Amino acid sequence: ILYNMVQDLKGNIRVYCRVRPSFTSGSSNAVEFVGEDGSLVIVDPSKPTKDGRRHFQFNQVFGPTATQEDVFDHVQPLIRSVMDGYNVCIFAYGQTGSGKTYTMSGPSGGSAKELGINYLALNDLFQMSDRRKDVINYVIRVQMVEIYNEQIRDLLAEDSSNTKLEIRSCAGGDGLTLPDATMLPVISPSDVLRLMKLGELNRVVSATAMNNRSSRSHSVLTVHVHGEDESGGKLRGCLHLVDLAGSERVDKSEVTGDRLKEAQYINKSLSCLGDVVTALAQKNTHIPYRNSKLTLLLQDSLGGHAKTLMFAHVSPEEDSVLETVSTLKFAQRVS
Ligand code: ADP
Ligand code: MG
Repeated sequence: ILYNMVQDLKGNIRVYCRVRPSFTSGSSNAVEFVGEDGSLVIVDPSKPTKDGRRHFQFNQVFGPTATQEDVFDHVQPLIRSVMDGYNVCIFAYGQTGSGKTYTMSGPSGGSAKELGINYLALNDLFQMSDRRKDVINYVIRVQMVEIYNEQIRDLLAEDSSNTKLEIRSCAGGDGLTLPDATMLPVISPSDVLRLMKLGELNRVVSATAMNNRSSRSHSVLTVHVHGEDESGGKLRGCLHLVDLAGSERVDKSEVTGDRLKEAQYINKSLSCLGDVVTALAQKNTHIPYRNSKLTLLLQDSLGGHAKTLMFAHVSPEEDSVLETVSTLKFAQRVS
C-alpha cells in the first residue's frame, strides 16, 4: 500500500529550539539551561521577578554543541514521510544572526560536515528512493523561490532578476501552486549542491544591490516527490524548507522609506504565519491562509494531514535577550 494517511497520534505541529554557540567568549550568556527533555531556561534581567528566570518547553531543544547530524536525526522521520505521500513544512524562525541559515543550508563555504537540512534531506530522499527502487519509481524535483516585500522571485531561473511569480492553485492537476517557477529534476547530491549554489548566487546578486536583502526575505526550497509503483499506483509528497526573514523588531524611529516598508512586510508575514499555525494547532475551522503570500503558497502543506516543524533559533548572548524571549514566545504560541 502506497498511501499511509493514518493521522499521526502525536499531532502534526512540532516545535524545536536551537541555541547557537556564543561568539564572544566570556560575555554574559542569557541561556541558563538546555534540557534533553526539551526544556529551556532563560535569564532575563528585565523580567520583574526575583531571579529573572523564564522557563520554556518544546518538543526538542538543541544546545550550542549539537551538530548538524544531531539535529537531522530528529528531522529525518518527517523527511521520510514525504516518500509516503505526506506534505511537510520545516521553518527556521529567529532574529538575524541566530543560526537559521546555518540550520537549513549550513554556513556558506563550510565543510561537508556542516551542510544543513536542505542538503541532508535531499540526500536522504535519494537513499530512500534507491532502497525502494524495485517497488516504486520515484522522481524528485525542486523549486526555489524568495519572497521579498510580498513578491515571489524565482531563484533557479537563469535570469532571475525580472521574474515575478504568481501563486495559482492547480487543484485536481499536479497540485502546483507556482507553476511558472523553474523546476529542476535532481538525482544526486552533486545536483543539489549545484542548485543550492545557483540559488545562493541569485540571492547574493540582489543582496549586494539592496543591502543584505537575504535576511529580509523568506527563501523557500520546495521538493516535489512523485512515486509510481508497478501497477501504476501513484503518490505525491511535498517538502517545503523555509529560511524565514529575520524576526527582529526594527526601531520605527530609526528607519524610514524602503527599510520601514520591508520591516512592515516582514512583521505582517511572520505574524500571519504565526496566526495560521496557531489556528491549526487549535483546530480552528477558519485558517487565515490568504493573509500573506507565504501562507498562501504553503496552504496545501499546512494543515490537513500535512506535518509542520518550526525551529525557533536563539542567540545566547545576553544583549539578545529581548529578541530571544520574543522568539521563544512566538514558538510557544504555535506549539
Ligand atoms: P541567520 O540565518 O539566522 O541570520 P546564520 O545562520 O547566518 O544566522 O548564523 C550566524 C552566524 O553564526 C554564521 O556565521 C553561522 O555560521 C554561525 N552559526 C550559526 N549557528 C551555528 C551553530 N549551530 N554552530 C556554529 N556556528 C553557527
Ligand atoms: Mg540567514
